[in-house]
Amino acid sequence: MRRHVQCNLCGADDTRQRYKLNGWTIVSCQHCGLIYVNPMPDAETLRAFYTEEFFRGNCRPTGYADYLRDKEIHMHQFRAYWPLIRREFSRPGRVLDIGCALGFFLDMARAEGWETVGIELSEFAAQWARDKLGLDVRTGTLLDVHLPESYFDVVTLWATIEHLADPIGTLREAHRVLKPGGLILITTGEVEGLLDKLSTGLCSWYDPPGHLYYFSTRTLRAMLQKVGFRTLRVQGVHIDPRMIGPLRRPAFRGLNRWLPATGRLWLRLIYRVGLYALERVGLMPPQHIGNIMVALARKP
Ligand SMILES: [Zn+2]
Repeated sequence: MRRHVQCNLCGADDTRQRYKLNGWTIVSCQHCGLIYVNPMPDAETLRAFYTEEFFRGNCRPTGYADYLRDKEIHMHQFRAYWPLIRREFSRPGRVLDIGCALGFFLDMARAEGWETVGIELSEFAAQWARDKLGLDVRTGTLLDVHLPESYFDVVTLWATIEHLADPIGTLREAHRVLKPGGLILITTGEVEGLLDKLSTGLCSWYDPPGHLYYFSTRTLRAMLQKVGFRTLRVQGVHIDPRMIGPLRRPAFRGLNRWLPATGRLWLRLIYRVGLYALERVGLMPPQHIGNIMVALARKP
Protein backbone atom coordinates (compact mmCIF):
# COMPACT_ATOMS: atom_id res chain seq x y z
CA MET A 1 0.00 0.00 0.00
CA ARG A 2 1.05 3.59 -0.59
CA ARG A 3 0.18 6.73 1.32
CA HIS A 4 0.42 10.39 0.41
CA VAL A 5 2.76 12.29 2.77
CA GLN A 6 3.56 15.91 3.54
CA CYS A 7 7.12 17.23 3.43
CA ASN A 8 9.07 15.60 6.26
CA LEU A 9 11.23 18.70 6.74
CA CYS A 10 8.82 21.68 6.54
CA GLY A 11 5.34 20.09 6.59
CA ALA A 12 4.22 21.68 3.31
CA ASP A 13 2.26 19.75 0.69
CA ASP A 14 3.41 21.58 -2.41
CA THR A 15 5.69 19.63 -4.72
CA ARG A 16 6.91 19.34 -8.26
CA GLN A 17 7.64 16.02 -9.92
CA ARG A 18 11.33 15.31 -10.53
CA TYR A 19 11.59 11.71 -11.70
CA LYS A 20 9.61 8.53 -12.17
CA LEU A 21 11.71 5.47 -11.29
CA ASN A 22 10.91 1.78 -10.61
CA GLY A 23 7.22 2.69 -10.66
CA TRP A 24 7.62 5.38 -7.95
CA THR A 25 7.40 9.17 -8.21
CA ILE A 26 10.16 11.38 -6.80
CA VAL A 27 9.17 14.95 -6.00
CA SER A 28 10.83 18.04 -4.54
CA CYS A 29 9.22 20.34 -2.00
CA GLN A 30 8.61 23.81 -3.46
CA HIS A 31 9.15 25.39 -0.01
CA CYS A 32 12.30 23.80 1.39
CA GLY A 33 13.73 21.79 -1.51
CA LEU A 34 13.65 18.36 0.19
CA ILE A 35 13.50 15.57 -2.42
CA TYR A 36 11.43 12.48 -1.59
CA VAL A 37 9.22 9.68 -2.82
CA ASN A 38 5.50 10.53 -2.78
CA PRO A 39 3.25 8.62 -2.37
CA MET A 40 5.38 6.68 0.11
CA PRO A 41 5.31 2.91 0.78
CA ASP A 42 3.50 2.18 4.09
CA ALA A 43 5.14 0.52 7.11
CA GLU A 44 4.00 -2.99 6.17
CA THR A 45 5.37 -2.68 2.61
CA LEU A 46 8.73 -1.51 3.97
CA ARG A 47 8.97 -4.33 6.50
CA ALA A 48 8.31 -6.86 3.73
CA PHE A 49 10.91 -5.22 1.47
CA TYR A 50 14.05 -5.87 3.57
CA THR A 51 14.31 -9.61 3.10
CA GLU A 52 17.45 -11.72 2.74
CA GLU A 53 17.21 -11.03 -0.98
CA PHE A 54 17.70 -7.31 -0.36
CA PHE A 55 21.08 -8.05 1.28
CA ARG A 56 22.31 -10.82 -1.01
CA GLY A 57 20.01 -11.01 -4.02
CA ASN A 58 22.49 -9.79 -6.63
CA CYS A 59 20.81 -6.35 -6.70
CA ARG A 60 17.51 -7.85 -7.88
CA PRO A 61 15.17 -6.04 -7.97
CA THR A 62 17.12 -3.54 -5.85
CA GLY A 63 19.47 -3.75 -2.89
CA TYR A 64 22.93 -5.24 -2.38
CA ALA A 65 24.73 -7.77 -4.58
CA ASP A 66 26.03 -9.61 -1.50
CA TYR A 67 26.41 -7.57 1.70
CA LEU A 68 28.36 -10.35 3.39
CA ARG A 69 30.82 -10.93 0.54
CA ASP A 70 31.39 -7.16 0.21
CA LYS A 71 32.08 -6.70 3.92
CA GLU A 72 35.42 -4.99 3.26
CA ILE A 73 33.77 -2.23 1.21
CA HIS A 74 31.41 -1.45 4.08
CA MET A 75 34.22 -1.67 6.64
CA HIS A 76 36.17 0.89 4.64
CA GLN A 77 33.43 3.46 5.12
CA PHE A 78 33.36 2.78 8.86
CA ARG A 79 37.14 3.01 9.18
CA ALA A 80 37.23 6.23 7.13
CA TYR A 81 34.64 8.19 9.17
CA TRP A 82 34.45 6.56 12.64
CA PRO A 83 37.67 8.37 13.73
CA LEU A 84 35.78 11.69 13.32
CA ILE A 85 33.73 10.61 16.33
CA ARG A 86 36.18 8.49 18.27
CA ARG A 87 38.68 11.31 18.62
CA GLU A 88 36.03 13.35 20.49
CA PHE A 89 35.98 10.82 23.34
CA SER A 90 38.79 10.07 25.77
CA ARG A 91 37.35 6.59 26.41
CA PRO A 92 34.72 4.34 24.75
CA GLY A 93 31.08 4.94 25.65
CA ARG A 94 27.70 3.76 24.41
CA VAL A 95 26.87 3.75 20.71
CA LEU A 96 23.49 3.19 19.01
CA ASP A 97 23.59 2.25 15.32
CA ILE A 98 20.29 2.84 13.50
CA GLY A 99 19.91 0.58 10.45
CA CYS A 100 22.82 -1.60 11.52
CA ALA A 101 22.29 -4.25 8.79
CA LEU A 102 24.40 -7.34 9.64
CA GLY A 103 26.14 -5.50 12.49
CA PHE A 104 29.64 -5.06 11.02
CA PHE A 105 30.06 -1.54 12.41
CA LEU A 106 28.82 -2.52 15.88
CA ASP A 107 31.18 -5.49 15.89
CA MET A 108 34.08 -3.11 15.18
CA ALA A 109 32.99 -0.59 17.83
CA ARG A 110 32.52 -3.37 20.42
CA ALA A 111 36.07 -4.60 19.74
CA GLU A 112 37.26 -1.08 20.62
CA GLY A 113 35.46 -1.29 23.95
CA TRP A 114 32.18 0.47 23.11
CA GLU A 115 28.88 -0.73 24.55
CA THR A 116 26.65 -1.27 21.50
CA VAL A 117 22.96 -1.42 20.56
CA GLY A 118 21.63 -1.81 17.01
CA ILE A 119 18.25 -1.14 15.43
CA GLU A 120 17.39 -2.91 12.20
CA LEU A 121 14.09 -3.14 10.31
CA SER A 122 15.10 -6.29 8.45
CA GLU A 123 14.31 -9.42 10.47
CA PHE A 124 16.86 -11.35 8.37
CA ALA A 125 19.71 -8.90 9.08
CA ALA A 126 18.83 -8.38 12.77
CA GLN A 127 18.69 -12.15 13.34
CA TRP A 128 22.02 -12.63 11.55
CA ALA A 129 23.69 -9.97 13.74
CA ARG A 130 22.29 -11.58 16.91
CA ASP A 131 23.11 -15.19 15.92
CA LYS A 132 26.48 -14.83 14.20
CA LEU A 133 27.95 -11.86 16.07
CA GLY A 134 26.09 -12.05 19.38
CA LEU A 135 25.13 -8.37 19.19
CA ASP A 136 22.21 -6.62 20.92
CA VAL A 137 20.14 -5.77 17.84
CA ARG A 138 16.42 -4.89 18.12
CA THR A 139 14.16 -5.53 15.14
CA GLY A 140 12.05 -2.58 14.03
CA THR A 141 12.47 1.15 13.65
CA LEU A 142 13.86 3.49 16.31
CA LEU A 143 10.31 4.75 16.81
CA ASP A 144 9.07 1.18 17.61
CA VAL A 145 11.74 0.47 20.22
CA HIS A 146 11.59 2.48 23.41
CA LEU A 147 15.11 3.34 24.55
CA PRO A 148 15.99 5.32 27.70
CA GLU A 149 16.43 9.09 27.53
CA SER A 150 19.93 10.67 27.56
CA TYR A 151 21.55 7.22 27.45
CA PHE A 152 23.91 7.09 24.44
CA ASP A 153 27.13 8.98 23.75
CA VAL A 154 26.93 8.41 20.01
CA VAL A 155 24.23 7.62 17.45
CA THR A 156 25.23 6.55 13.93
CA LEU A 157 23.23 6.18 10.72
CA TRP A 158 25.50 4.68 8.05
CA ALA A 159 23.67 5.06 4.72
CA THR A 160 20.38 4.62 6.57
CA ILE A 161 18.57 7.98 6.70
CA GLU A 162 17.62 7.77 3.00
CA HIS A 163 15.75 4.49 3.73
CA LEU A 164 13.60 5.85 6.57
CA ALA A 165 9.88 6.57 6.25
CA ASP A 166 10.18 9.35 8.86
CA PRO A 167 13.70 10.79 8.99
CA ILE A 168 12.83 13.87 11.07
CA GLY A 169 10.90 11.75 13.60
CA THR A 170 13.89 9.41 13.82
CA LEU A 171 16.34 12.29 14.32
CA ARG A 172 14.10 13.75 17.04
CA GLU A 173 14.11 10.38 18.83
CA ALA A 174 17.90 10.06 18.33
CA HIS A 175 18.24 13.49 19.97
CA ARG A 176 16.14 12.30 22.93
CA VAL A 177 18.20 9.13 23.56
CA LEU A 178 21.54 10.97 23.26
CA LYS A 179 23.20 12.41 26.34
CA PRO A 180 23.71 16.19 26.33
CA GLY A 181 26.98 16.70 24.46
CA GLY A 182 26.43 13.43 22.55
CA LEU A 183 27.22 13.16 18.86
CA ILE A 184 25.35 11.92 15.81
CA LEU A 185 27.10 10.78 12.63
CA ILE A 186 25.21 10.39 9.37
CA THR A 187 26.40 9.25 5.96
CA THR A 188 24.06 9.41 2.98
CA GLY A 189 23.99 10.32 -0.68
CA GLU A 190 24.44 13.89 -1.70
CA VAL A 191 22.08 15.12 -4.36
CA GLU A 192 22.64 18.48 -6.01
CA GLY A 193 26.40 17.91 -5.83
CA LEU A 194 28.39 17.93 -9.06
CA LEU A 195 28.24 14.20 -9.73
CA ASP A 196 24.49 14.24 -9.29
CA LYS A 197 24.09 17.19 -11.65
CA LEU A 198 26.17 15.40 -14.29
CA SER A 199 24.11 12.24 -14.02
CA THR A 200 20.65 13.84 -13.47
CA GLY A 201 18.41 11.20 -12.02
CA LEU A 202 20.72 8.33 -12.95
CA CYS A 203 22.90 8.58 -9.84
CA SER A 204 22.62 5.39 -7.84
CA TRP A 205 21.09 7.16 -4.83
CA TYR A 206 17.80 7.53 -6.69
CA ASP A 207 16.67 4.02 -5.90
CA PRO A 208 13.06 3.81 -4.67
CA PRO A 209 11.52 2.15 -2.74
CA GLY A 210 14.82 1.38 -0.94
CA HIS A 211 15.82 5.03 -0.87
CA LEU A 212 12.92 7.36 -0.01
CA TYR A 213 14.68 10.67 0.78
CA TYR A 214 17.45 12.44 -1.12
CA PHE A 215 19.39 15.11 0.76
CA SER A 216 21.55 18.06 -0.15
CA THR A 217 23.95 19.51 2.43
CA ARG A 218 21.37 22.29 2.91
CA THR A 219 18.32 20.06 3.58
CA LEU A 220 20.22 17.67 5.86
CA ARG A 221 21.64 20.55 7.90
CA ALA A 222 18.16 22.12 8.15
CA MET A 223 16.65 18.84 9.38
CA LEU A 224 19.34 18.33 12.05
CA GLN A 225 18.94 21.91 13.29
CA LYS A 226 15.15 21.69 13.33
CA VAL A 227 15.22 18.90 15.95
CA GLY A 228 17.78 20.74 18.08
CA PHE A 229 21.21 19.50 16.93
CA ARG A 230 24.15 21.86 16.50
CA THR A 231 25.78 20.86 13.22
CA LEU A 232 29.56 20.57 13.31
CA ARG A 233 30.09 19.49 9.71
CA VAL A 234 27.80 18.63 6.79
CA GLN A 235 29.81 18.12 3.65
CA GLY A 236 30.05 16.30 0.38
CA VAL A 237 33.04 13.98 0.30
CA HIS A 238 35.60 14.31 -2.44
CA ILE A 239 37.16 11.23 -3.93
CA ASP A 240 38.99 9.85 -0.97
CA PRO A 241 41.93 7.53 -1.64
CA ARG A 242 40.85 5.42 1.33
CA MET A 243 37.46 4.87 -0.31
CA ILE A 244 38.69 4.41 -3.86
CA GLY A 245 41.14 1.57 -3.19
CA PRO A 246 38.75 -1.31 -2.55
CA LEU A 247 36.04 0.00 -4.89
CA ARG A 248 38.41 0.43 -7.80
CA ARG A 249 39.92 -3.03 -7.67
CA PRO A 250 36.90 -5.01 -8.97
CA ALA A 251 36.49 -2.54 -11.83
CA PHE A 252 40.14 -2.85 -12.84
CA ARG A 253 40.44 -6.59 -12.28
CA GLY A 254 39.26 -7.52 -15.77
CA LEU A 255 41.61 -5.04 -17.38
CA ASN A 256 44.59 -5.97 -15.20
CA ARG A 257 44.44 -9.58 -16.35
CA TRP A 258 45.31 -8.52 -19.90
CA LEU A 259 47.95 -5.94 -19.09
CA PRO A 260 51.63 -6.54 -18.31
CA ALA A 261 52.95 -4.99 -15.09
CA THR A 262 54.35 -1.94 -16.88
CA GLY A 263 50.94 -1.40 -18.50
CA ARG A 264 49.28 -1.44 -15.08
CA LEU A 265 51.75 1.15 -13.80
CA TRP A 266 51.03 3.39 -16.77
CA LEU A 267 47.30 3.00 -16.25
CA ARG A 268 47.63 4.03 -12.61
CA LEU A 269 49.79 7.01 -13.57
CA ILE A 270 47.34 8.18 -16.25
CA TYR A 271 44.48 7.83 -13.75
CA ARG A 272 46.25 9.95 -11.13
CA VAL A 273 47.47 12.61 -13.56
CA GLY A 274 43.97 12.73 -15.09
CA LEU A 275 42.33 13.33 -11.70
CA TYR A 276 44.92 15.97 -10.82
CA ALA A 277 44.41 17.73 -14.17
CA LEU A 278 40.61 17.77 -13.77
CA GLU A 279 41.02 19.29 -10.33
CA ARG A 280 43.50 21.88 -11.61
CA VAL A 281 41.16 23.13 -14.35
CA GLY A 282 38.31 23.33 -11.85
CA LEU A 283 36.17 20.56 -13.33
CA MET A 284 36.28 18.66 -10.07
CA PRO A 285 36.09 20.99 -7.09
CA PRO A 286 37.38 18.76 -4.27
CA GLN A 287 34.34 19.26 -2.05
CA HIS A 288 31.85 18.11 -4.65
CA ILE A 289 33.39 15.28 -6.59
CA GLY A 290 31.74 12.47 -4.71
CA ASN A 291 28.05 12.06 -4.15
CA ILE A 292 28.52 10.83 -0.60
CA MET A 293 27.80 13.17 2.28
CA VAL A 294 28.98 13.02 5.89
CA ALA A 295 27.25 14.93 8.68
CA LEU A 296 28.35 15.32 12.27
CA ALA A 297 26.23 17.12 14.88
CA ARG A 298 26.03 17.54 18.64
CA LYS A 299 23.15 17.57 21.10
CA PRO A 300 23.81 20.79 23.04
ZN1 LIG B 1 9.44 21.10 2.53
